[in-house]
Amino acid sequence: MQGLMQDYPLTLPMLFQRAEQLFPNKEIVTALPTGRVRITYGEWAERTRRLGGVLDTLGISADGRVATFAWNTARHLELYFAAPCSGRVLHTLNLRLFPEQVTYIVNHAEDEVIFVDKTVAGLLWPLLPTFTTVRHIVVTDDGGPFDTTAAVPAGMEVHDYEELLAAASPVEWHVEDEGQAASMCYTSGTTGNPKGVVYSHRSTVLHTMAAQFADGFGARESDRILPVVPMFHANAWGLAHAAVACGAELIMPGPDLSPDGLATLIEEEHVTVAAGVPTIWMGVLPALKGRDTSALRVIPCGGSAVPKALSEAFREQLGLPIYQAWGMTETSPVATVGSIKSTFADRPEDELADVRALQGLPLLGVELRIQDQETGEPVPWDGESRGELQARGPWIAKEYYDDPRSPESFTDDGWLKTGDVATFDAEGYLRLVDRTKDVVKSGGEWISSVELENEIMAHPKVAEAAVVGMHHPKWQERPVAFVVVREGEQLDKAGVLEFLDGRIAKWWTPDDVVFIDEVPKTSVGKFSKKDLRDQFKDYVIPEA
Ligand code: ADP
Repeated sequence: MQGLMQDYPLTLPMLFQRAEQLFPNKEIVTALPTGRVRITYGEWAERTRRLGGVLDTLGISADGRVATFAWNTARHLELYFAAPCSGRVLHTLNLRLFPEQVTYIVNHAEDEVIFVDKTVAGLLWPLLPTFTTVRHIVVTDDGGPFDTTAAVPAGMEVHDYEELLAAASPVEWHVEDEGQAASMCYTSGTTGNPKGVVYSHRSTVLHTMAAQFADGFGARESDRILPVVPMFHANAWGLAHAAVACGAELIMPGPDLSPDGLATLIEEEHVTVAAGVPTIWMGVLPALKGRDTSALRVIPCGGSAVPKALSEAFREQLGLPIYQAWGMTETSPVATVGSIKSTFADRPEDELADVRALQGLPLLGVELRIQDQETGEPVPWDGESRGELQARGPWIAKEYYDDPRSPESFTDDGWLKTGDVATFDAEGYLRLVDRTKDVVKSGGEWISSVELENEIMAHPKVAEAAVVGMHHPKWQERPVAFVVVREGEQLDKAGVLEFLDGRIAKWWTPDDVVFIDEVPKTSVGKFSKKDLRDQFKDYVIPEA
């Protein structure tokens, strides 16, 4: 017997129409170098429909790729909807990729037009001659100094965003097929060229609903959401879509991601949800001292492990610990969140802090398993047995866009291989041990670089710490800690090792502690161990 319910396609116009019809008076605030700009969802919706008209006028193909090279702004949100709602495919370009990677992804995705913020136009212009399919560059003036009359290659035209909008007419949306591509994002590609992930309308709508689960981020109408996490990478964790769908107000930080800039926005705009990677929150915490943060209700954080010490420092200073989530570009991105079960209510605060340091519970809609890397068998959920984390579900990628590397990343039975090593405990909490390529293999045993880093970063004088497995003649690899000392503090190797004594297994003790000024970061603000390894390629572990 079949169910007798309607076959209603899940498409982005569904989300758009809610903001347009139900919440036209709610606002989107954008912090630009020229000051804060406020528009309502009513104005935004009207502009977005006209932007659909602009894409028609420019002659962008029915499923043409519409690229953005832009900060988090209300205009970027217009593009987030105008491209997919008019049947095209939004392609967010990561501002911080290497130039040759930008060229690769623009050409690989066959972008027809790029919308670029003036503050970053200077990064894009030198690359224009390398693009093979781009016919239009549309500049959004966010106060940047770049001279956009600079020469462009033959066959390419430069336009001003506001001029195009002023001349365009609003359009109706037509998306019938929920399986159609809505947007694409390339992984930040720590090795080799970035790989393209293509989201469908359906996957985006379902992920947007999940962002509103009470046990997810719980995005709701009364929220004022500050997505520090970029719209150009991993969809700002779904918060931009979720805000539109539920009528929450958005506080867009624009180009200024400085601790003071963000702290000011949090205070003055009464932000309730502020989402960003751990390195952002490490910087912002001191800037929040003495400010009114009483509106904040949740600080979603992921992208790399959230050190317990960081979360606890937030709890002590703001009364609000960090809310950890795990995911990746391939998982839309949110797959697990660190909600605390009510059955843990009587646990002491320190034990709850340990739970918050885990990556959390899988969201409804995401299925996860851990496979033993040698036998390929699923490992028990005992909190100890580790292996490769694999995922499947309606917002998990099934392959990469036009990429011969796809088969390496998916199992024969269709699960995504995440490249993360993890455990599950009996309560269902995920714990990320490491990335497969970052675990330290010492004499056939594994040491988790993430756990060691967390322990070192618990030292009050440590600002940042990254642990890398370095070649060792006897043990194959041994952990070496790279440590950044807090400003104005003094710390030496013995001080770090003494602190670790009793906190970790003896044989995990780093063979060396190297003090550096800063841990190199990836394009999205994570510790870049690849760059660290490159910087220290001639390093030799000192003899004991
Ligand atoms: P890339 O584009 O480099 O794949 P992603 O943003 O997709 O970048 O990165 C996904 C990876 O980030 C995950 O596979 C995992 O290793 C790491 N990650 C994400 N969230 C967490 C977390 N809460 N704790 C630890 N690692 C995380």
